[in-house]
Amino acid sequence: MAQLLDGAGYVAVEEPGQASVLIVNTCGFIGPAREESIQHLRELAQAKKRGQILVAAGCLAQIWGQQLIAEVSGLDGIIGTRRWMDIVEFVEKVRGRKKPEPMYHLPGDATVVGSDERGVMRVAVQGASAYLKIADGCRRPCAFCSIPRIKGVAVSRPPEAIIAEARELAARGVREIILIAQDTTDYGHDLGRQDALPNLLESICNAAPELKWLRVMYAYPGAVNDRLIEVMATRPQIVHYLDLPLQHGHPDALKRMRRPANVGWVYRALEKIRAAMPDIAIRTTFIVGYPGETEAEFETLCQFVRDLQFDRVGAFTYSVEPGTPSAELPDQLPEQVKRERYERLMALQQPISLSKNQSLVGQTLDVLVEGQGEGLTIGRTFRDAPEIDGLMMIEGHAPVGEFVRARVTGAMEYDLTGIVSHLWR
Ligand code: SF4
Repeated sequence: MAQLLDGAGYVAVEEPGQASVLIVNTCGFIGPAREESIQHLRELAQAKKRGQILVAAGCLAQIWGQQLIAEVSGLDGIIGTRRWMDIVEFVEKVRGRKKPEPMYHLPGDATVVGSDERGVMRVAVQGASAYLKIADGCRRPCAFCSIPRIKGVAVSRPPEAIIAEARELAARGVREIILIAQDTTDYGHDLGRQDALPNLLESICNAAPELKWLRVMYAYPGAVNDRLIEVMATRPQIVHYLDLPLQHGHPDALKRMRRPANVGWVYRALEKIRAAMPDIAIRTTFIVGYPGETEAEFETLCQFVRDLQFDRVGAFTYSVEPGTPSAELPDQLPEQVKRERYERLMALQQPISLSKNQSLVGQTLDVLVEGQGEGLTIGRTFRDAPEIDGLMMIEGHAPVGEFVRARVTGAMEYDLTGIVSHLWR
């Protein structure tokens, strides 16, 4: 939206008071995000000056359009997630309207392709790393998740558009590209293509040889196949990192979640992945306290975590999302039980994470430098995705956005310490 507005002659300003158009890109995924979005809209609505318009965009606007109007007086327009690429025309319409009633733009069809027709890059750059979106929406049936309702079914972007953007980002000096979608391993399914993700990864490596790291997030259990493993193992630019949200380790809980319940697949797949890439860092996430989760199911999850020795584990207490099938399930658990299981799971994982990190001490790794402070350089190894995983604190100074070779000298549960071993590459 920012790119389109910029192209139409709008100029971004720092202070809301200086703006003619105020746009809040809302989040509707979980309760706290919804509250924050509404709070922010209310604050802007109250401070709104004559001639300014206030528009709510994004997920919350998509699923809650009518209610938002009722919750926030002073809203002028609502534009959802499906046609965000119409933002310029929509803003013009709202500004030119004759009546004070708010206007809506909430078509139901998923039209991610529209952004490619308009030449908008689907990229968010943060320092030397860039998130590149390869698809939008999701066709999976997970019972706890409101994303398919918010985003619609998965629509993949054409590979040519993604490859061109990756090439441009690398030419601009971006060192790490992170491919994202609600489910990256489903990429290309709607285009009728087999193995579209591994093919895309290969094409990006070929098109952008100067790119150092290519990372894939959000794989779906059962969808990490031999071809993907082979491409990840043989292309040096693709980092040996797999983010595979598993959500639970007990088949019955997984069935209630409407997730793949073949736990045996996970054991076999991880063995195969680790054999092909012995240095791979595997990240997963779990939901604890899902409706009907018995103590025995939770214990099975704990054993699953002990058995599989994940490098990184994220856990969430189950949050009821209105409108999802899970919200209607019987045996919703008390918050106290959810919290207690969360603490137990995290306590179980901590020594595993620590020993994984300790096994790196003495190794020399490439580190992407992201910041500096108090005589230290702060960066990440390939084992850490930005913002969700750990960091490495290195003695001495190194330029931000560059790679440095550093020897690991110490390990904590989440972070590493190190010392520069070679100069810049
Ligand atoms: S795969 Fe992810 S985004 Fe899709 S429905 Fe399941 S949890 Fe939601």
